[in-house]
Amino acid sequence: MSLDTQEFIALELLSTGDGALIEVEGPRATTSMHHRRAPLTSPDEQFLILNAATVRSGPTTSGIFDRDLEASGWPVLQPAGLDIFQINLGKLCNMTCRHCHVDSGPDRIDENMDLGTIEACLRAIDVSGAHTVDLTGGAPELNPHFEYLVDECVQRGKHVMDRCNLTILTTRRYQHLPQWFAERNVEVICSLPHYRKLGTDAQRGKGTYDKSLRALRLLNEAGYGQGDPTRPLTLVTNPVGAYLAGNQASLEAEWKEALAKNHDVYFDRLLALNNMPMSRYLEWLMEKGMVEEYLEKLVQAFNPGTIAGLMCRNTLSVSWDGYLYDCDFNQQLDMKMDLPGAARPRVQDFSLGIWQQHVIRTERHCYGCTAGAGSGCGGAIT
Ligand code: SF4
Ligand code: SF4
Repeated sequence: MSLDTQEFIALELLSTGDGALIEVEGPRATTSMHHRRAPLTSPDEQFLILNAATVRSGPTTSGIFDRDLEASGWPVLQPAGLDIFQINLGKLCNMTCRHCHVDSGPDRIDENMDLGTIEACLRAIDVSGAHTVDLTGGAPELNPHFEYLVDECVQRGKHVMDRCNLTILTTRRYQHLPQWFAERNVEVICSLPHYRKLGTDAQRGKGTYDKSLRALRLLNEAGYGQGDPTRPLTLVTNPVGAYLAGNQASLEAEWKEALAKNHDVYFDRLLALNNMPMSRYLEWLMEKGMVEEYLEKLVQAFNPGTIAGLMCRNTLSVSWDGYLYDCDFNQQLDMKMDLPGAARPRVQDFSLGIWQQHVIRTERHCYGCTAGAGSGCGGAIT
């Protein structure tokens, strides 16, 4: 479906994967590649395209990521310390954004973490030493065990972050969540491509912007975005086109002013992320004939100063089916964590000591994290 023929889905029934049906309304910017059986659903196909792209070398880059790491003083990339335990609760989402690196959508009903895997995550969290649990998806709230998992993490004294697409908070079933989050001091990290309607609706689907503002007002009413450190509201932006994220600090100031002045809406901080050249964003680049151009931008902007702060050095990522990865990007490319003694390591295999010694797996998509000021789930690195 092209952007010109986007349609607004007023009401949709989704299965949670446990058989329960839920009502979700939301926009569609495309359909999932999985639904279309697109060749790019294969990670091998994505690597073929990325590795075939010709890019020039530059003052700090050869165009080969591992070679650049080594030349920057990092012959192997290893963890620093485990701060963040990130769980991808599933690929089910009420939206189908054009840039989604997870290839999420309403059709991804079978890929939802089950209770047994959630219990295994909790056991791993107990021995991980991580201070933060980062919940992502899909729309993580659509997992039927979401509230149970949040409560268990809060009871363990963990800082919980929910990566929220905002529109889900305007649906009947989930509109209680802003207040529910506030009662548990959950940090809400919300994606909003732009503070203007056009850019947001182009990337995420018609109607997204208005619903996102409604959700932000609900969060503000629950005490979020008012400077209260126990109720932090973070927005995440990524470029709508094929360019790098702008300066995070100046964007934050611009966004705060625009949203306050135009909509009386408030938030605490803005994270500016680069789009990763993979999955649906890679598909869009291919359609536009811009794969080489975008990769060249990332490669030429390689910044060795970002390496120490890469999120794969302080975070691990668990997939909906319980496998361990160095990050959510590697997870979507099926690059399982290279843990000594476990060929396909699962969360049940987690040991902090072994994790600390393992070597992080990198490929060409990693230039998305090292370009410019750097990029990751925590925003700019430098
Ligand atoms: S980018 Fe986020 S909101 Fe959009 S389809 Fe992907 S998971 Fe859903
Ligand atoms: S994609 Fe980014 S976070 Fe993941 S392994 Fe590569 S550099 Fe690290």
